[in-house]
Amino acid sequence: MSTAVAPKLDIQKIRKDFPILEQKVNGKPLIYFDNAATTQKPKQVINAISEYYEGYNANIHRGLHSLAEKATTAFEDSRKVFQKFINAAEVEEVIFTKGTTDGINLIANAYGRKFLQEGDEILITAMEHHSNIVPWQMIAEEKGAILKVVPVNAKGEISLDDVEKLITDKTKIVSVVYASNSLGTVNPVKDIAKLAHAKNALMVVDGAQASSHCVVDVQNLDCDFYATSGHKMYGPTGCGILYGKRAILEEMTPYQGGGEMIDNVSFEKTTYNDIPYKFEAGTPNIADVVALKKAAEYIDAIGKDNIMAHEQALTQHAHERLSEVPGINFYGTAAEKVSVVSFTIDNVHPYDAGMMLDAKGIAVRTGHHCTQPLMDHFGIEGTIRASFSVYNTIEEIDFFADSLKDIVAKFS
Ligand code: PLP
Repeated sequence: MSTAVAPKLDIQKIRKDFPILEQKVNGKPLIYFDNAATTQKPKQVINAISEYYEGYNANIHRGLHSLAEKATTAFEDSRKVFQKFINAAEVEEVIFTKGTTDGINLIANAYGRKFLQEGDEILITAMEHHSNIVPWQMIAEEKGAILKVVPVNAKGEISLDDVEKLITDKTKIVSVVYASNSLGTVNPVKDIAKLAHAKNALMVVDGAQASSHCVVDVQNLDCDFYATSGHKMYGPTGCGILYGKRAILEEMTPYQGGGEMIDNVSFEKTTYNDIPYKFEAGTPNIADVVALKKAAEYIDAIGKDNIMAHEQALTQHAHERLSEVPGINFYGTAAEKVSVVSFTIDNVHPYDAGMMLDAKGIAVRTGHHCTQPLMDHFGIEGTIRASFSVYNTIEEIDFFADSLKDIVAKFS
């Protein structure tokens, strides 16, 4: 039995930062294994939201009064923290969005509508989340472009040879998930970016799952865009960031008009603001952006390496312990993966398992995980997915494995 944990982390101390973990669910201590859907929030993040509303709620950028200045400074500080967090070359390359879905839609609309032409190709993989499929389908339909898909193998991996073969002179955009939410697979996005650039295509990275589980250095990855969500990295829901290289962002035409994104408005002609503001129309989600900074700082304070080591130990232990469950079938056994364990159990419907686990206080996700084409590929309706975060423990996984054995015993 594996008992490895990253030695530097005091998990019990970390757990105290997350008030929600103290509660009981259905009379049992909460075991929260639905982190790929959304992580829990530390009190540093929760407090930042109420501090904003209690202390300096004001609209940003154009107000001259003290509260407006304080709010603007806090909002723009968050941008600086994220520039460092993803190692963007310039702070203006960080756009605040509602999250990954919003970021990818922004690229599809603001880049795709202007630059895609009939017959152009967009390349994605078979393991993409719907939010990295549907926006491309929509713009492809509008522009007469073609969506192509890199296949996955039985382990849930893609091959660089396939990627290379599928990128042609017509490929304009390659958009790939960094870490799969259904399988955990970590894709070689840096290598894929090289292949994309060799054919003058742009590289888009769906970083929804990666930001708290993988090293994110957009300059090193050399991606053109990186979209991510705050709520999957201990931050609030409804806010995230889109990174884009300055030269590309400057060429793009905003797809949402309104306040903030303009330079000058007249009935005859409107000119647009500079980046990043030209993509931030309307009053943004100020409180949550301010709190999102605390999430990035929280990760940095613990250390991404420490978090990754702990999560890897949990994942390895989960694979070992769950292998003892009769009739289990794992989906996603890639050599490199984040802390996601996805599986089915013979003769047990994922929904039944999910409900029986909930009765024991264990929160997992069941279903297609917004990756229906991937489920179709494997010929299944969905999986049971346990996804781990820094506050999870080996003991929780042991209880989970034992609970699954009980459930299987009831069904047989
Ligand atoms: N991409 C991946 C890999 C995801 O896991 C998710 C959410 O589960 C998304 C995109 C969409 O993120 P959001 O709903 O925060 O926009």
